[in-house]
Amino acid sequence: MDFDFGPDDERFRTRARDWLGEHANGSADRRAWERQLGADGWIGLGWDRTHGTYGNRPATLTQQVVWAEEYARAGAPARLGHIGENLLAPTLLAHGDDAQRARFLPPVARGEELWCQGYSEPGAGSDLAGVRTRAVRDPGDGTYRVTGQKIWTSLAHEADWCFVLARTEEDSHRHHGLSFLLVPMDQPGRVEVRPIRQLTGDAEFNEVFFDGAVARAEHLVGGAGQGWRVAMGLLATERGVSTLAQQIGFARELDRVVRLALRTGAAADPVLRDRLTRQWAELKTMRWNALRTLGGAQDPGAPSVAKLLWGGWHQRLGELAVRVRGAAAALGPERWTADRPYALDDAQRLFLFSRADTIYGGSDEIQRNIIAERVLNLPKESRG
Ligand SMILES: Cc1cc2nc3c(=O)[nH]c(=O)nc-3n(C[C@H](O)[C@H](O)[C@H](O)COP(=O)(O)OP(=O)(O)OC[C@H]3O[C@@H](n4cnc5c(N)ncnc54)[C@H](O)[C@@H]3O)c2cc1C
Repeated sequence: MDFDFGPDDERFRTRARDWLGEHANGSADRRAWERQLGADGWIGLGWDRTHGTYGNRPATLTQQVVWAEEYARAGAPARLGHIGENLLAPTLLAHGDDAQRARFLPPVARGEELWCQGYSEPGAGSDLAGVRTRAVRDPGDGTYRVTGQKIWTSLAHEADWCFVLARTEEDSHRHHGLSFLLVPMDQPGRVEVRPIRQLTGDAEFNEVFFDGAVARAEHLVGGAGQGWRVAMGLLATERGVSTLAQQIGFARELDRVVRLALRTGAAADPVLRDRLTRQWAELKTMRWNALRTLGGAQDPGAPSVAKLLWGGWHQRLGELAVRVRGAAAALGPERWTADRPYALDDAQRLFLFSRADTIYGGSDEIQRNIIAERVLNLPKESRG
């Protein structure tokens, strides 16, 4: 693919940069920020327009990259609307019907409705086909009643809706008999969200308990019993656009670690200097690799290779950050507050959060299995 930023893209970049410069540091209210992004047309740039438009602005692939890069460069707030915009929307565009697209996409584009992803369960993580949450059709009004427990549900405490992978066929096994349901979160007594506190002290993910939660029949996506196909389609929607933006964020983090190393004198240590240089070189390699695969025909192992590379890279950066920080990185909080059990500096936060990078979005072992089976054609793992 010929990947180049032309004059139109550069004009688009100026517009994006100006807008972000004006707005990105304003509001600390992340919900208000979503609505502002939506009101000014910055959500849903990449949505496929085959079936229509949903209030989102069209943008070429290179413009989507430009926007994502500028967003990361501006250090704009972490998105609350990411799951709706980048996971739900492409899924509805591919597997939903017109009514579902018309109902759900405009409020996502306006930044008004937030989503979370209800896949993982205590007994179903890497082995997602082990899902046990049930959805039983009410013979009276045709609605589904969802009962079961999800876990590690990012942003469930903020979300208005959850897309839930649930078993709709009694006694079905593994990936058969599952359905993909859109479930409203505001159902007191039927949907309960319990925060899980992470190593960093934050609670960005949750346990979610469904106890007869109602999902309307027309909010089942892709047909009853077709949930596995839809759920896998969703996992495959991840593309190079967000990877490139993520790399800009990584570059900013690396830059902070380098500046810390210069300040503390750690940069004079040849071993640490070598490791910092390696991080820099590897980041460049990841960028060229992402540009190479962007928009072009992807080999089936490309997303897994990319995940393995960035997950490991970011984890090593976290380890390097605390090495650069020195012995002080092992020390506890400087300030204690009632709502925050401990306060971390940047290096500590990076180190602790990046422990999760090799788990979410498919663990390293699972990525290696995918590469082994689908790319190298090695014998399939026995799954009992
Ligand atoms: C920060 C974060 C956010 C998340 N957000 C969400 C969310 O919004 N929604 C959601 O549904 N889930 C979410 N998850 C869950 C995530 O998808 C799971 O943690 C992940 O799929 C792994 O599942 P598990 O935790 O059950 O671990 P397990 O599957 O129990 O794995 C435990 C260990 O065994 C290894 N292992 C498992 N199977 C194999 C195998 N076949 N071969 C070799 N090794 C294997 C794994 O690699 C891992 O090291 C999130 C997780 C994290 C960390």
